[in-house]
Amino acid sequence: MMLVSEEWEIQVDRQNSPHQFSTDYGALQDEQLNRYIGQVGASMIPHTHRRHMPYSFRGVNAAYINAYAFPGGSIAATRGILLSLESEAALSSLLGHELGHVNARHTAEQMSKGMLIQAVVGGIGAYAGTHGEVYGQLASQLGMLGAGALLASYSRDNEREADYLGMTYMVRTGYGTEGFLELMSMLNGLHKGHADAASLLFATHPMSQERYDTAILRGNSEFSYAKGRPLNRERYMDHTAGLRKLKPAIQNFQKGEERMAEGAYDKAEAYFQQGLKISPSDYAGLVMMAKCRYMQKKYETALRFSEKAKRAYPEEAQANHLSGLAKINLKEFEGAVQDFTAYENKLPGNPNTIFYRGYAFECMGNKQRSAEDYYRFLQQVTEGAQAKHAYQRLVQWGFVGQPGR
Ligand SMILES: [Zn+2]
Repeated sequence: MMLVSEEWEIQVDRQNSPHQFSTDYGALQDEQLNRYIGQVGASMIPHTHRRHMPYSFRGVNAAYINAYAFPGGSIAATRGILLSLESEAALSSLLGHELGHVNARHTAEQMSKGMLIQAVVGGIGAYAGTHGEVYGQLASQLGMLGAGALLASYSRDNEREADYLGMTYMVRTGYGTEGFLELMSMLNGLHKGHADAASLLFATHPMSQERYDTAILRGNSEFSYAKGRPLNRERYMDHTAGLRKLKPAIQNFQKGEERMAEGAYDKAEAYFQQGLKISPSDYAGLVMMAKCRYMQKKYETALRFSEKAKRAYPEEAQANHLSGLAKINLKEFEGAVQDFTAYENKLPGNPNTIFYRGYAFECMGNKQRSAEDYYRFLQQVTEGAQAKHAYQRLVQWGFVGQPGR
């Protein structure tokens, strides 16, 4: 029974996906590679069951290993997972698996079952479910807005179905089934090795030996006719050549993030430093370093790294949020307001940014502007310490009546 409409799926996608892409450090700036991912994805759409959906495909700058789909068809793969693949057929298998989730309407199904209560943007701790508790706290402290709850809801049955649809779509598109086995073998290897960088991947897409075995079985039976078809290894290698050069940097960022998730900021910092030595203007690396320094309460350096990050990728919003937070701690409130406003212009609708801008206005003594932001924040978030703070100020300043009077 499906209680959720297609309009809802598209709406939830539009509201959530831009925030998740920003939390993953934005779409790849490597236009050529991004276009290639888009082309491989687009070539599969005519072979899916819901051809009319507004699909879009991109790589994102995050270093950890993952790929995900929003229910309206917005699909992303991180630099971490793009580096783990070795052929276009494997990429099409990955995108096919994500298309499978969209086509089988798995998010809508979880929603109908009541598995997804806080699916829509507004919650601050949405990350805890997928990144572990320390990271969840870190994320909420930094005001990062993820769609963890939305993406972590697939069941093992959902995975089986997405695998089946994924293989169907890539075979229909003309690729050899060996590409799908390549993907499954890579995932299974990570799964067995309990690679930390992949832990989020398995929170969103549970892996098992059974998934791997089933793929081999299908490759030898139902889809055996597609064995030996093109895998386009060289084309994949050509298009990812630039990314591959950054592999040592991205591996350092991965390790740094894993240490950050454990709260080991000194160790994390050393990895970020190594990574930035190899790729000095890497937006994701710079923002990670800024976060790390912020958590160490080194606000001056946190600010310096977020300023560098802003210059490295001016269209992306996350660095503005960090820069604003650092400025609040350095008592540069006007600058903080400018940063949060810049963020809001690039990526509207993050309640955390609105709260902190309200807070910066409060520190400047501008009650009117502060109250406006606190009011807007409370329209999205009604629980937690920030909501309490915002509400108390509105009462204190006479913008809302005191309860019980
Ligand atoms: Zn999956």
